[in-house]
Amino acid sequence: MLTKHNVTMGIEWRFGPDWPGQRCGAKTRRGTACQRPANKKNGRCRLHGGASTGAKTQEGRARISAANLRHGKFTKDKLERRKANAAKGREIRKELRQMEHELIAGGLLNKNWRDSLLS
Ligand SMILES: [Zn+2]
Repeated sequence: MLTKHNVTMGIEWRFGPDWPGQRCGAKTRRGTACQRPANKKNGRCRLHGGASTGAKTQEGRARISAANLRHGKFTKDKLERRKANAAKGREIRKELRQMEHELIAGGLLNKNWRDSLLS
């Protein structure tokens, strides 16, 4: 956004040859030192800083550990069992629906029998 005091504005091109800050200094493919501003803790730029070395705090390490934990809730066996249970439930509900229809057709059950349960 264009505002007068926006510090992130033009961050890509504002470090000209007279910029007094620390430079990256890594060896480039041309053999010269990289002139990009050093903005990583190791004094290199975003192109030469290297990959992350991982979480340092106890909390961060615990979070990563929890994310990679294999809890076994989706094993083939359990998925199969859940599928079978769902099919069994559908079968039972279908049978109940059929019974309800037959009872209503036979006059043994009022058509609005569910309404009597609510009040
Ligand atoms: Zn660099």
